[in-house]
Amino acid sequence: MSARRIDGKGIAEALRARIADGVAAFRETVGRPPGLAVVLVGEDPASSVYVRSKGKATGAAGMRSVEHRLADSVSEAELLALIGELNRDPGIDGILVQLPLPGQIDEQRVIAAIDPAKDVDGFHVENAGRLAVGGEALVPCTPLGCLHLLKAELGDLTGKDAVVIGRSNIVGKPMALLLLAESCTVTIAHSRTRDLPELCRRADILVAAVGRAEMVRGAWVKPGAVVIDVGINRIAGGDGKGRLVGDVAFDEVAEVAAAITPVPGGVGPMTIAMLLRNTLVAAHRREGLEEPRL
Ligand code: NDP
Repeated sequence: MSARRIDGKGIAEALRARIADGVAAFRETVGRPPGLAVVLVGEDPASSVYVRSKGKATGAAGMRSVEHRLADSVSEAELLALIGELNRDPGIDGILVQLPLPGQIDEQRVIAAIDPAKDVDGFHVENAGRLAVGGEALVPCTPLGCLHLLKAELGDLTGKDAVVIGRSNIVGKPMALLLLAESCTVTIAHSRTRDLPELCRRADILVAAVGRAEMVRGAWVKPGAVVIDVGINRIAGGDGKGRLVGDVAFDEVAEVAAAITPVPGGVGPMTIAMLLRNTLVAAHRREGLEEPRL
């Protein structure tokens, strides 16, 4: 392996320590901690794990963490009523509704009901629009975490050729907009893209957010590129337990790239750190305070 392994875990820990300092200063000034409410509908095991780790991280940063667990059978009206309460609660700065939601609930309607000032996932159209036109947005946590890693690795991104594989509203599209705002030349690839390997070989920055295990091969990568692997895929392991891999064939790509994020331990830890960051930023904006530079 010649590539540097980008230590998302370590970078996220350092960021979380700075966030904890910011939380302490906020408490001192405002007299209350920033508050994050997480809403979980149903018993999906993966979602439960995410919600638990978000709650733990929020508490560890000194923030107030509120968890609402609703039955799988909850109606859309009941969920919207809870969001209305959280919107009105002055001690809550961030609201996160864990996706996916059960079939009887319209996800878009739920996201639209969240106060954009408390939308720490950055999924509300108002925040998506502000990101697109260049305003004070709350930005989705995963692409924001990827940008943080890229800046830690490369510093100024101006003029870099960036290819983002994936065009979801959660990762691909906001990632592309963030890179554009950093003056990269951005190409967004997706399932209909022609000759993806050739396109990827032009990239100084390659972000894979696809959900296909080890799709990006060593021969797709320009020597010296920085590769960010967003994918989380469980594949069968030798021990029968299964293991997590990204969208990038790590060992092959590490022979060619200058730097690469591992899975796990790359983008994943940054996502939670950015959730805490967004909550702290939302709390500052709601209180009319100058927001911390994180
Ligand atoms: P989506 O399924 O919403 O989007 C996947 C994207 O990949 C789509 O735009 C799709 O194209 C594109 N795609 C699918 N197949 C191909 C292909 N063969 N070639 C090129 N493009 C392809 O996924 P998400 O954006 O939500 O997530 C992507 C990955 O990131 C998943 O593995 C997910 O688990 C992971 N993830 C990780 C997070 C973390 O914290 N580390 C957080 C969020 C997600 P099209 O639009 O044409 O269908």
